[in-house]
Amino acid sequence: MGKEIVKENIRVEVYAKSPGDFGFASMSGVFRTEDEELQMCEGIARDIRRHVDDLPSRGNSGVNVVYDTREYCEFCENTWEVDENGEPICCSRAANEFKETKKKESQ
Ligand SMILES: [Zn+2]
Repeated sequence: MGKEIVKENIRVEVYAKSPGDFGFASMSGVFRTEDEELQMCEGIARDIRRHVDDLPSRGNSGVNVVYDTREYCEFCENTWEVDENGEPICCSRAANEFKETKKKESQ
């Protein structure tokens, strides 16, 4: 009632093939590092710019490597969450490190 939905920022999203995808066969347990993933996507972006029509004629190339970020705890690998004092709530190691850092800062 009264609410309308429009599509905005319509764009093409491109993902690199998964690390275990060898075309003729697919393997699990194959991984790429963050840098390898970024390099592969930059290569795909260069290829798209070279071969595709209807990209912007000036300014932004129209093909950008973008990514999301996720904050996680180095100790327990859970999502990074803190309480109202900024103290991590995921595990005692993170909480202890936070307390140690605070102690050093106040000395
Ligand atoms: Zn933790």
